[in-house]
Amino acid sequence: MRNLKLFCLGFVLLFSACESEELEVMPPNIVLFFVDDMGWQDTSVPFWEQKTLFNERYHTPNMERLAKEGMKFTQAYATPVCSPTRVSLLTGMNAARHRVTNWTLIKDSIQPMERDHPSLTFPAWNVNGLSPVSGDPKAVFAKPLSQALQDAGYFTIHSGKAHLGAIGTPGENPLNLGFDINIGGHAAGAPASYLGTENFGNGVEGKEQWAVPGLEKYHGKPIFLTEAITKEALVAMDSAVTGKQPFFLYMAHYAIHTPIMGDDRYLQKYLDKGIDSTEAKYASMIEGMDKSLGDIMNYIERKKIEDNTIILFMSDNGGLSAHARGGTPHTHNKPLSSGKGSMHEGGIREPMLVKWPEVTKPASVSAHQVIIEDFYPTILEMAGIDSLQTVQKVDGESFVPVLKGEVFNGVRPLFWHYPNEWGPSGPGIGAASTVRKGDWKFIYYHVDGRMELFNIKEDIGETKNLIEEQPEKAKELATTLTNHLKAVDAQMPSHKATGEQVKYPIELF
Ligand code: CA
Repeated sequence: MRNLKLFCLGFVLLFSACESEELEVMPPNIVLFFVDDMGWQDTSVPFWEQKTLFNERYHTPNMERLAKEGMKFTQAYATPVCSPTRVSLLTGMNAARHRVTNWTLIKDSIQPMERDHPSLTFPAWNVNGLSPVSGDPKAVFAKPLSQALQDAGYFTIHSGKAHLGAIGTPGENPLNLGFDINIGGHAAGAPASYLGTENFGNGVEGKEQWAVPGLEKYHGKPIFLTEAITKEALVAMDSAVTGKQPFFLYMAHYAIHTPIMGDDRYLQKYLDKGIDSTEAKYASMIEGMDKSLGDIMNYIERKKIEDNTIILFMSDNGGLSAHARGGTPHTHNKPLSSGKGSMHEGGIREPMLVKWPEVTKPASVSAHQVIIEDFYPTILEMAGIDSLQTVQKVDGESFVPVLKGEVFNGVRPLFWHYPNEWGPSGPGIGAASTVRKGDWKFIYYHVDGRMELFNIKEDIGETKNLIEEQPEKAKELATTLTNHLKAVDAQMPSHKATGEQVKYPIELF
């Protein structure tokens, strides 16, 4: 492209209308590299003020490379579980507004752990997920980010885990959501198997819902799912690059979600470190994911499209810690408390990196607070789409000014709302609503009205509940949270014993 520009510049004196005008408005390629269940400390890139033992344990050289070339965000947030985050990402809506507040799978049906809860009745949340068409009362109708980009001329590639709509609904298939290509994505939020030798779970009775679709050419082969979907993503990118069409790659890895299975390319070195076998497998899955990032970065360099390609790195919720891991539960995201499923930082704080050539300063760090719905307006702005008509109200705010090095004035509150049951128990886990404003964070638990107030700057591990010591601050945040819940018409659970709806937090002061 640089050569073409020079070519045009040579003719600009002769011709008033030069092809360079067209070339200069060629929108950037956008890679959204999205990892599943990756915690804030599941990397050798330190996102805290100091290096931790986890940063020593895990090996992610390509994330280090991306951090050196772009901007690192130390306070980036998602929701505590998969589907709410993914729907916020693709719609720009806060979870309380889109109402896909828990993970989706079966059409029109809540999960048994919600149905069988001892004391709460859960609201009729959008169990069918995201829908590109109106008319489903159990789905949120919205214009997906991928559709907006496709409409603007992007070649849109979905690779990996979708988990956006329930089985049998239009939203289960990325091709219905504005993607030109779908590699291995469907309704399920986890693969039955990561192994090509096990056909990624296909052909196993009882695993039909979880078997990864497509990818038949890798069946029976010794290849890890992470590698297979990366190879296919490179092929898809190549067709866009060859056709000189800007592309949007949503590289949505199944890794590092359960089932925790060893990636043989990396497993032995972690076993040799003396780490227990589950944690060694987990570390090998992280490194395989990181290799995928490196493969994509290498491809972009090789094709000489590096100057016009943006890479965003993000995860969809905190690292799993309540079950299925080696070692002590709720400690896998230290210094953060708890993990996936939790309103504590371990459940929602994510490793986030952005490289935007000639915009982000290399090796820069931002403490700006980002939440997952911010990606929607940000990516639209990156693509130069500035007058999009959406059916949904977009809650996110673009962080493009932050990427450009501009400083924000004022502090906006961030909100989380989970009127649901995840299953396992632990710190911060359970039906709850949360607000963070500045350094302060207030959590309200629906089951018993319990509240927590933390100063995140002073106490990142959320060890000191200041609810008694700082009643004025607690009341201020309870007001902010209540006003938000009312403004977006957030759904609340009810108490089984009385049938009464759970009170808003301010009503308890
Ligand atoms: Ca997840």
